[in-house]
Amino acid sequence: MIHHHLSRNIIFKSIYNLIIKWYRSTHVKDIGIEGINPPEKVCDDKKCPWHGEIRIRGLLFEGKVERIRRRIALITFYRYYYIPKYERYMIRRSKIKAHVPKCLDIKEGDEVIIGEARPISKIINFVLISKKWSQLAQK
Ligand SMILES: [Zn+2]
Repeated sequence: MIHHHLSRNIIFKSIYNLIIKWYRSTHVKDIGIEGINPPEKVCDDKKCPWHGEIRIRGLLFEGKVERIRRRIALITFYRYYYIPKYERYMIRRSKIKAHVPKCLDIKEGDEVIIGEARPISKIINFVLISKKWSQLAQK
């Protein structure tokens, strides 16, 4: 009897997993940002803003991919700082790390759009959403 229950549970679980997998592969979330189209590919990346569980909230900005290691991209972007002493704005370069979803083909040197999300891991709370508009238009 115990054995019977166990095997039934395993079957339920695998069916459930299959349904989740299918759902993830066919459904693209609306990430709530106008003007950015979802990627052509689909993926099963849980940390993907389009197909996974990551929700974009907060900051959205553009940057350039410096390097990629194990789906983590180092991105440089420019920020404007107001310096009261000189009464002028200065441009400063900053770096952050962001997760690269499986469905995005990103190379080093690409201009990308990054969104702020709930912490994805200990050190990362940004995720790549798309390539930059201008690059998409050139295609
Ligand atoms: Zn994806």
